[in-house]
Amino acid sequence: MMKLYDTASKAHKIFNPAKSVGIYVCGITPYDSAHLGHIFTFMTYDLIQRRLEDTGHEVKMVRNITDVDEPIYKKAAQLHIDYRELASQEIKRFETVMTALDFRPLFVQPKASEYIYQIVDAVKILFSHGFAYRVEEDIYFDVSKDPKFGEFSNLPEGLAVKFMQKRGGDPYREGKRSPMDFLLWKGITDPNDPAAWDTDIGHGRPGWHIECSVMSYTLLDTPFDLHGGGNDLIFPHHECEIAQTRAIRHTDLAQHWLHVAPIIYLGEKMSKSLGNMIFVEDLLKSYSPAAIRLSLMHYDYREGGEWVPDLLDESTNLLDKLNHSFSHSTPEAASDLLECIRSAIDDDLDTHTVIHLLEDFCEDNNTSRSSKDVAQAKAYVDKCRGLLGI
Ligand SMILES: [Zn+2]
Repeated sequence: MMKLYDTASKAHKIFNPAKSVGIYVCGITPYDSAHLGHIFTFMTYDLIQRRLEDTGHEVKMVRNITDVDEPIYKKAAQLHIDYRELASQEIKRFETVMTALDFRPLFVQPKASEYIYQIVDAVKILFSHGFAYRVEEDIYFDVSKDPKFGEFSNLPEGLAVKFMQKRGGDPYREGKRSPMDFLLWKGITDPNDPAAWDTDIGHGRPGWHIECSVMSYTLLDTPFDLHGGGNDLIFPHHECEIAQTRAIRHTDLAQHWLHVAPIIYLGEKMSKSLGNMIFVEDLLKSYSPAAIRLSLMHYDYREGGEWVPDLLDESTNLLDKLNHSFSHSTPEAASDLLECIRSAIDDDLDTHTVIHLLEDFCEDNNTSRSSKDVAQAKAYVDKCRGLLGI
């Protein structure tokens, strides 16, 4: 059985879902191609998916695309192209990388732009339950109506305000009832704005948080098994998702919350403005997908860390040795390795230990085997490869 850290209870919890497992992961905003930090995040959930499938579960993995969001419009305007064109180019680049890295299939990859009318319905429900109010043409969620708001992230107020401002919010907007109130709907008055819809609640577009609430609870039964994303989404994004869902559906959104720390480079989180982004499509020109995956397994998902480019060569060497050892392994050795990898993954995705197991396997395993053992050994080896995607 898997044991995974749960952000909500701030403790490790047994993750023991029913046969069909619903997982929702916040995906990319398609305005800059996915960098190594994104891939590290998504690989964490891919590893969970692989292990669940290994134990006979059917995994409904939903990873959305936030194609309605302010940074896309800004970038599209800089490039003098339509935001939809920018989004579709970037989604294509992202999917090419994900395919090359052999990610397990998604159940659905919803785009926010495809859920506008469901989002409008959600905002109408929030109005009818007394959780929504207007400031000029915009609509906000009134956090004072939800006594549990803030419990999930549990931040001191000063820090919450800071995070909100840094992460797309507007704590100091005039007319709001509280700095923590967050945008549900942005009214658009410019008739030439391409990203606006005519709806019952006005001409405009949804806020970021309500998009994920609606996509996730529309596609998966609530509370679904696990919700994830980068750890910078804990507040405000996931706190707001939880509050909205409570207000609309009177239920928790997810039973287990798992967040991934960033891979940083040159001492900072990868970002366009700092020019320290590593793109996987560039790495793929020189390294195999398996080498990239193994390199990232050197990092603990809850700690992340500074990217060490040498890991790519080290991982390539390890793979060479591993391929040799795999093709000479006895069934017993391969079976032992498989069981140890499974236990390491079940122990809160302990990929450090997985790397050590692979290294030790290459050192130890040079035993002879009979010809009848070949197929049996290969079956175990294929399971090891399948679990790790290498
Ligand atoms: Zn989200």
